[in-house]
Amino acid sequence: MIDKDFDEKYRYDGKDLGVCCQQGRTVFKAWSPLAERVELRLYKEGTGGEACRAEEMHRKEKGIWEWEFPENLHGMYYDYLVRIDGKDTRTADPYAVGCSCNGSRSMVVELGKTDPEGFGEDTAPAMEGEQIIYELHIKDFSYDKDSGVPEPYRGKYKAFTLMGTNGKYPTCMEYLKSLGVTHVHLLPFFDYGSVDEAGDESQYNWGYDPVNFNVPEGSYATDAEDGLVRIRECKEMIQALHKNGLRVIMDVVYNHTYREDSWLQRMVPGYYYRYQADGSLSDGSACGNDIAAGRAMVDNYIAGSVMYWAREYHVDGFRFDLMGLLTVELMNRIRRELNAEFGEGEKMLYGEPWRADDSPMERGTQAALKENAGSLDNGIGFFSDDTRDAIKGHVFYEEEPGFVNGGRGMESLILHAVTGWRDGGASFRPRSCAQIINYVSAHDNFTLWDKLVLTLHNGESDFTRRYEDVLAANKLAAFIYFTCQGSLFMQAGEEFGRTKLGEDNSYCSRPELNMLKWGRTVEYAELVDYYRGLIRLRKKLPGLCDKSRSAAARIREKNICGERVVSFWVDNRDFDHSGGKWEELLIIYNGSFEGYTLELPEGQWEILADAREAGCCWGIPGGQKELLVKGQSGLLLGK
Ligand code: CA
Repeated sequence: MIDKDFDEKYRYDGKDLGVCCQQGRTVFKAWSPLAERVELRLYKEGTGGEACRAEEMHRKEKGIWEWEFPENLHGMYYDYLVRIDGKDTRTADPYAVGCSCNGSRSMVVELGKTDPEGFGEDTAPAMEGEQIIYELHIKDFSYDKDSGVPEPYRGKYKAFTLMGTNGKYPTCMEYLKSLGVTHVHLLPFFDYGSVDEAGDESQYNWGYDPVNFNVPEGSYATDAEDGLVRIRECKEMIQALHKNGLRVIMDVVYNHTYREDSWLQRMVPGYYYRYQADGSLSDGSACGNDIAAGRAMVDNYIAGSVMYWAREYHVDGFRFDLMGLLTVELMNRIRRELNAEFGEGEKMLYGEPWRADDSPMERGTQAALKENAGSLDNGIGFFSDDTRDAIKGHVFYEEEPGFVNGGRGMESLILHAVTGWRDGGASFRPRSCAQIINYVSAHDNFTLWDKLVLTLHNGESDFTRRYEDVLAANKLAAFIYFTCQGSLFMQAGEEFGRTKLGEDNSYCSRPELNMLKWGRTVEYAELVDYYRGLIRLRKKLPGLCDKSRSAAARIREKNICGERVVSFWVDNRDFDHSGGKWEELLIIYNGSFEGYTLELPEGQWEILADAREAGCCWGIPGGQKELLVKGQSGLLLGK
């Protein structure tokens, strides 16, 4: 029954699904083509109590059901009773922009009334020459007592609005601001299902289990009962990040829902999910269901949701979970729509170019996988697992090392990673390095610190111990991806040796294991300073920041100098090739455990980064012919 004809017959391209509540009027619009009858029910409370009003909605064209009240119902809760094949099913509104505690009822919201003071004037900070993304979970940010955040705000949106909370050293927003990253990528903060919003603070989840796609999660609000609080506080968080010079990226999960029995499914059974030939749900997400991107109303839903967050919450970019389950056509459409409304490239777009398993795609669509990079818009980035694994080793085989932790035969891979795989070396070819997100750690898998401890101290791993070789390998790993072309991404705390004590999948571990331990920023201040230096330095190097299609041509004289030692030159002239501070760079990565003696080429060179410090600038005395590159370290020279 649900096929192309269904899409042609019922496709609705209007942007007014859900509730429109303005001044003295409230209009409800639901899309449910299979329904025989739809009843709208209004409540004063988010949970419990009887409906105070119930209305049978009018059937319109294209499977639309509508009801209009000549009054403003802002703050009322509602749900629908949908009759299909004679059976009534209760559902909340998948298009709702507000909801009750735990999201089982929707809420009528006049959005203008939820804006914090000054939100109308809120704008993103100016775009910098490089995108350096910091991946953060809202609860992790301030759950630690040492954050200094007062208890009612700990683990909440509100924690982002405070400065100077610790009193002794920078934590939370003050720290974030001092780091120099340009974007904060927040793990899912739409309403998800795995945390009981009425429960206690010891619960934890990453949040990759969407319930209400267009409503902020309630457990991060100071009050989950009043549906307006989460909206206002989420906006306050974004406003505060903007004020402190940071752009905000939202982690979005449009590839599956918390349960198959979702509002989408209750509204139009069988439409929003993919099924195998035998009628079972496809499971390319490894979460039990896959959303059927490629169908008209699924694509409209996803694109509309993205535009909603960009417009209403001023979100500056989106990270797509398991983007490989969505289609190239949909991703390109989202790119076009964001460009058209906000300006080209103004909103960042990137995702995971893979999926957990095969999924039966709609006929005529192409999966947004890495191997289809050439069909994806140049303004859609993806995580470079090739770069990640070449640097530190495979994510699933814990003992397998990469270039910085004892791996062998990685030299040429590392040199390909430098151009964002534009000069070959991988199973795909990006359109330009603008598509490449370089990274070595994210919320999934081991933290960088843990992976390095496991590989360098196999069999006697003590994650809490300070190992000098782990510290050196961590610095070198950062040095390498900070000198690769493409955008940069880091997991929060990577810069202070974040450990989860060897737990590689902490999605529902206790918050104490997941949280950022702020004391570690002092304990590993040297590492934090190193990252800070790399961030500062990177922004000054046009040869590496260049995202154009010809950027790879700036990398030349790639050389394997010996086992685990490579070097290359970078044409670092400004974008108009007019010169600039350092016209040429010479970069060496020494992944071996011994020192490497570099013969200095002709010219007046300065050291911009070495084993100890990054972002420095020391002249090399004239007449000096050699430089020692310590084991497990990088050297960056500028001329
Ligand atoms: Ca929730």
